[in-house]
Amino acid sequence: MSTTRAPHGRPPLRAGRPWPRWPRPSAGAEQALLEVLHSGRWSIASPYDGNPTHEQRFAARFAAYLGVGNCVPTASGTASLMTALEACGVGAGDEVIVPALSWAASASTVLGVNAVPVFADVDPGTLCLDPAAAEAAITPATKAIMVVHLYSAVAELAALRALADRHGLALIEDSAQAHGASYRGRKVGTVGDAGTFSMHHTKLLSSGEGGAAVTHDARIARRIEHLRADGRCRSTAPPAPGLPELVESGELMGSNRCLSEFQSALLTAQLEELDGLNAVRRANAETLDRLLGGMGLTPQRTSPGTTERTYFGYAVGLPGAVLSTMPAETVAGALTVELGLHVKQVYPPLYASPLYDPASRPRFDIGSGHLDRLVRGRHDLPVAEQAARSFLTFHHAALLGEEADMEDIAEAFRRVLGSCAELPG
Ligand SMILES: *Cc1c(COP(=O)(O)O)cnc(C)c1O
Repeated sequence: MSTTRAPHGRPPLRAGRPWPRWPRPSAGAEQALLEVLHSGRWSIASPYDGNPTHEQRFAARFAAYLGVGNCVPTASGTASLMTALEACGVGAGDEVIVPALSWAASASTVLGVNAVPVFADVDPGTLCLDPAAAEAAITPATKAIMVVHLYSAVAELAALRALADRHGLALIEDSAQAHGASYRGRKVGTVGDAGTFSMHHTKLLSSGEGGAAVTHDARIARRIEHLRADGRCRSTAPPAPGLPELVESGELMGSNRCLSEFQSALLTAQLEELDGLNAVRRANAETLDRLLGGMGLTPQRTSPGTTERTYFGYAVGLPGAVLSTMPAETVAGALTVELGLHVKQVYPPLYASPLYDPASRPRFDIGSGHLDRLVRGRHDLPVAEQAARSFLTFHHAALLGEEADMEDIAEAFRRVLGSCAELPG
């Protein structure tokens, strides 16, 4: 397909009109970064200067925002998942139930702590972990359930929390895509034994790279602290100025997965604008739900318990009549040309993802009993496979535009699906 002309020969709908950019600096971002720059205290391992670190300040702000007792910032969402899994007791030979549809890190981090991801199918409406499928995947080796709040959905948390409790499993909420979403009035990330966030440049709250793990359990938090700072943790009383704040407790061996002071200061500033931007995205997404729903498409749903919805991506299912004439990939390509916006298929099922290949990493110690479960194509996950064939998504930056921009998106769907109806036979 030509990348300059739409299939019907007209110029693309949005030629020359760009979409809002992401990430974008909040009002206080520049000042926050300059403050760190000139302070000379760029890391949490830097000498104490009499003030709390920016990491400590961001952790306190984010914990208060979420309504959770403990927050440990980390270098990435991946680092937050690895430390949370390990702090919840997941280790060699354990199985962790992971939704079949997610970003590769949801599964690679399980391998990263030497455990085995066992994929369970998703709900056809929300595309998030189906509690019944998760239950069916439990074996005596299961140690934890990882749930992902995917694109714009909040997973069915009440059922998953009850399931984990019934079986004595840890529930880990990968909330990398859902900063600010809530379920029955509680922010996501705070219902699980641990919740994790990514502050990667694409995410709703961003410092380019970054992450955080949160938990109500102070002991889990203390383990995460050690795991992310080479076995060190913050001293209970501030040291004399000029001395390090981190104490070499050696309680638990760790690795360096610390967030820098630049990133923490930036995140504190960016957090101020999170709710306002989430509200803009939500209003535009509701307009799109109405416009696209009216054309026979199926916008992604969220669980009934959702009290605040966020949009990392807007996802929508194509009707079967369209898919019988044109694969989703072709529709996505045509929409990308019309809109000048990257419209793509949702993630492939993880076991079929080119980014998930346990055999490529000899470091993973996976017993032969587990190998069967890792072999591609042996999984029976029809809902994830159907979703991957029928759902399209695009990044939330487009939802930061005006209502007229949403009408453009709907018009592009109308053109592309209309051209597909005109295809012979
Ligand atoms: C982005 C993401 C991660 C990983 O976060 P990084 O900051 O890129 O390491 C994990 N899980 C999900 C669902 C994500 O979207």
